[in-house]
Amino acid sequence: MSDLKEEDLPFDKLHEECGVFALYGHPEASNLVYLGLYALQHRGQESAGIATSDGHKIYSVRKMGHVAEIFTPDVLNQLPGNLGIGHTRYSTAGDTSLRNAQPLSVACNKGQVAVAHNGNFTNAIELRRELEEDGSIFQSTSDTEVVLHLVARSRERTLSGALRDALLQIEGAFSLVFLAEDRIIVARDPHGFRPLAIGRLELPDGQPATIFASETCAFDLIGATYVGDVEPGEMVIIGPEGMTRELYTTPGVTAHCSFEHVYFSRPDSIVFGKAVAESREKMGRLLAIEHPVEADVVVPVPDSGVAAAIGYAAESGIPYKQALIRNHYVGRTFIEPSQAIRDFGVKLKLNPVRHLLEGKRVVLVDDSIVRGTTSRKIVRMMRNAGAREVHLRISCPPTISPCYYGVDTPTQRELIAANNTIEQIREYVEADSLAYLSLESLRDSVDDTNGRFCYSCYTGRYPTLVQIDEIVLAKTGCC
Ligand code: AMP
Repeated sequence: MSDLKEEDLPFDKLHEECGVFALYGHPEASNLVYLGLYALQHRGQESAGIATSDGHKIYSVRKMGHVAEIFTPDVLNQLPGNLGIGHTRYSTAGDTSLRNAQPLSVACNKGQVAVAHNGNFTNAIELRRELEEDGSIFQSTSDTEVVLHLVARSRERTLSGALRDALLQIEGAFSLVFLAEDRIIVARDPHGFRPLAIGRLELPDGQPATIFASETCAFDLIGATYVGDVEPGEMVIIGPEGMTRELYTTPGVTAHCSFEHVYFSRPDSIVFGKAVAESREKMGRLLAIEHPVEADVVVPVPDSGVAAAIGYAAESGIPYKQALIRNHYVGRTFIEPSQAIRDFGVKLKLNPVRHLLEGKRVVLVDDSIVRGTTSRKIVRMMRNAGAREVHLRISCPPTISPCYYGVDTPTQRELIAANNTIEQIREYVEADSLAYLSLESLRDSVDDTNGRFCYSCYTGRYPTLVQIDEIVLAKTGCC
């Protein structure tokens, strides 16, 4: 493992979780992009941005904060046009400044271009060094900016040609949406790590608008229909002459992110062609079959453990109880007590229902354990509320390796399952028993019959070369 600290790297951070949205052919583009981002808010809460075009000029607003706080009607009125893209960004460490908020935009010899990215370029450091040695001046510390420099420097004359050129130099995970003055171009990496769905919205004049989004829940909100996915290695261009779809490269081994189904996506979305609610419930059912326990109630950690807990309860016959209540309105600003209160952060978010827990043997279901600190606090909380036994069940295998493809996971050092046995983790979180879903059952839950998913955070086997600075962290076959 690398000794290189993230703060030493030229980039803000290596693992970003984001949501992207793009729309072509609607007179109220900015309002629809806003609604799309509103539905994708769970994919990133730190900053958000929208760029639109009226056919001649690109307009852009990006700010720190939540979508609904940033995009007031006045702000949306500054974003005219019938095509646009949007982004929500999440970041927990490093430089969280506005300069990294997306869409990023430039004016170059291919015209004005704005870009929004979900994923992580695994060779961004190397590419940035080469570009800087050649004189490029970077405005941000985000890996995404690399693609704009590659486009600007390309000898290809057209934007689509320059993009093809740029995409072939980038490695890693990317679902990218680009806005030019008169067109939208989207592209997905050859492994299809991150999702990118295509939707259609019928307009009264019979001309449909075309939409691209990280998740289909964004289509539902605006009344659009899900028609399929941008394929791995595919570029889709939509402009005045219509829509074209092409493979800009040979697709690699497909490696859809399994963690999208475990945790990240909303349960009302269809991701990689599969309903998330369905796969999550199956994870819970299989967890009950693999790791049964005698208990009185099944309690989810809201919201991440809800669907799996429903599955666990249905399979085991143990009653499902909502015995932890989440405050959904925990904002960015709240009054902190002047004297430290233990576990304040978790209490702010979750409160146990003593009435449902007193004297009970509880199966507590959550989606994952990362550092273990949250689980430990929640287990204590359950006991303080009177639970007699707490049996923790996790709806995925132990997280033993960081993600380099766009999910925010800490370094291996901080991952509790990378450095401890399950028994040691059980002891740390103070549960009476602890069990994880097996990799085989996770595969089964997402219907992965032909090895189309990436499980690198559970196996440490990465489907591509992963580099951090000079240090090659891992290269193995497909996961
Ligand atoms: P920890 O205290 O680090 O073990 O936190 C585990 C909790 O964080 C679980 O309840 C998960 O739902 C949640 N979680 C896991 N992975 C992520 C992620 N990449 N981003 C945000 N939250 C996460």
